[in-house]
Amino acid sequence: MKTEKTFIIIKPDGVQRSLIGEIIQRLERTGLKLVAVKMIVPDENFIEKHYTIDPEWKGTVGEKTIKSYREKGLKPPYDDPHKVGNIVLGNLKKFMTSGPVIAMVLQGLHAVKLVRKLVGGTEPFASDVGTIRGDFVLDSYQLADIDGRAIRNLVHASGSIEEANKEIALWFKPEEIINYRLIQERILYDVNLDEILE
Ligand code: ADP
Ligand code: MG
Repeated sequence: MKTEKTFIIIKPDGVQRSLIGEIIQRLERTGLKLVAVKMIVPDENFIEKHYTIDPEWKGTVGEKTIKSYREKGLKPPYDDPHKVGNIVLGNLKKFMTSGPVIAMVLQGLHAVKLVRKLVGGTEPFASDVGTIRGDFVLDSYQLADIDGRAIRNLVHASGSIEEANKEIALWFKPEEIINYRLIQERILYDVNLDEILE
């Protein structure tokens, strides 16, 4: 459990908004350990691979979008979740290749769920105050749809351990992931705390 890994991208909008430091700080200060990091400009093929790692994703993203419209008492602009998935993927390809992104792997107890909690819900307008997406950006499904673009929500974070493992394998070579000890792991995970006092 203590070595669970998750995969995060600071998307082009996060880099352009000068939020790299702020985002890493929020994730790092929990005690999670950064074990891999790099800056790249991905191409469209790679982004398609990333988002279709989960074959169900297109349907899920569509259902989530439609549900969010209905919850707000609005009529969704489309009914077929798969169609939405294809449109979103097209928009993501444009968005995610528009500039450099930071890709990273964080490791620690319940890393996947913990990072999703810190990142907040997909739609910044609806994500909780105190989360990265809730605090630093203001986009909505509605505006993104009107403008025909991807929601700008600063970060990607893996949704499950399985997704994380596949995404890490896609973005990093095994030797780019560093195995090392952090001094703070003593206070985070040590059972007896018998090494503090002289
Ligand atoms: P998350 O990033 O929260 O896991 P999803 O996997 O459902 O969200 O979607 C991936 C990304 O696609 C989102 O972060 C967002 O940038 C974009 N996106 C999702 N749904 C829509 C939509 N209906 N319109 C525009 N962009 C969307
Ligand atoms: Mg997702």
